[in-house]
Amino acid sequence: MDGDGRVELERAREGGYHSGSYTNYGALPPMRATTLLKTVLGIKFTHVTGVAFSADGIICDVAPSTSVPRCGSCCLKVDDIYDRRERLWRHLDLGGMKMELRYEIRRVECPRCGVTTELVPWARHCSTFTDAFEQTTAFLAQTCAQTVVAEMMRVAWRTVGAIIRRVVDRLAPVDRLAGLTQIGIDELSYRKHHEYVTIVVDHMTGKVVWAHPGKNAETLGKFFTALGKERCALLKAVTIDMSAAYRAAAEEHAINADIIFDRFHVQKLAHDALDEVRRAEVRAIVEPEERSALKRTRFVLHKNPWNLTAIEEGKLIDVQRTNYTLYRAYLLKESLAAILDRHQPNVARKKLDEWISWATHSGIAPFAKVGRTIGRHLDGIVAYIASGLSNGRSEGINGKARTLTRRSYGFHDSSSLIGMLFLCCSGITLSPARTVPCTH
Ligand SMILES: [Zn+2]
Repeated sequence: MDGDGRVELERAREGGYHSGSYTNYGALPPMRATTLLKTVLGIKFTHVTGVAFSADGIICDVAPSTSVPRCGSCCLKVDDIYDRRERLWRHLDLGGMKMELRYEIRRVECPRCGVTTELVPWARHCSTFTDAFEQTTAFLAQTCAQTVVAEMMRVAWRTVGAIIRRVVDRLAPVDRLAGLTQIGIDELSYRKHHEYVTIVVDHMTGKVVWAHPGKNAETLGKFFTALGKERCALLKAVTIDMSAAYRAAAEEHAINADIIFDRFHVQKLAHDALDEVRRAEVRAIVEPEERSALKRTRFVLHKNPWNLTAIEEGKLIDVQRTNYTLYRAYLLKESLAAILDRHQPNVARKKLDEWISWATHSGIAPFAKVGRTIGRHLDGIVAYIASGLSNGRSEGINGKARTLTRRSYGFHDSSSLIGMLFLCCSGITLSPARTVPCTH
């Protein structure tokens, strides 16, 4: 062993750590298990007082290094100790082995909060997981499928929901609603379209800033109440779908804002009408082969014409040749999309008027209905052309949110889904919890 190696070992024997590396072979000094674990845990203000193996992993006795406890709820120093109770916290696995921290937590009598558990340095109030465990779980939940997260962390997916809520609360900005001028309001369905969450997106940042269960005027009213009258008056544009509920709430509260109807929802009306026409036409055909051919045209009719392959174009020509009603419905859908692509509001208004007249006089009932709906919402649709703002602008977020709702079927309550939305769509960046050897 050379001189440097000896010095390093001497230092280590004295109980100190060093930043050098053991490059030359030499026996490393023994170390107490509690010292080792304190270093591995790397949690500040925490002693390790004992360690043992349980049936399925390691149990580590820990204690805060501060003697006077603080209230776990408001952080106030409290001398009055009510009682002590043993509690376990899950920590990150050690060498693939489940690790738990054990401590006789003190319950304190806080003058502000009443009897509650003390603050511990390794976990949040009321959580039975350490901060490091929760951070790593939330990091995985941002990107991985639920089965991966649950399998990796060895917790139920429902528990992941509760962890996400706590992490989001911890990392949320003080005021998510600060500086809003242009917002998009949309509904998300979950639990197989039986329940809804209303979300508000900031068009300037593309982030979800608010979410609440429900989809009626009262739900949206809660957002405007949270925003406050002064800030409501600063809103310049609000994009919504054409639901009467959202429209009523937006018009009542966002008094200075342009109410813009979301392009995606306007076009969806035409797509749904086209489907209705196609189904009716299919039902009317008696000849089985013809019937099945028409049945298979859905994809072609909905696809953008410039993306059609030669075979698909052939199918479209067949529709034009054999079913004129369906072909006219297709043209109505396509021409509406073309009008919405325009950039001059005046021209678009004129074209929309013409389109409404064409649709309502087409003799195709579903499109006549769409024509009337568009007529009632004309100003808000022209406002889209003028501003170019649409919930589709934050389509990334919408798509992501919809994927999340699918991924979150295991969540049984909206608060976990909302937690997931904020975790993945509000600009929170996370990394897995990591520690380095530390002597403190
Ligand atoms: Zn308190």
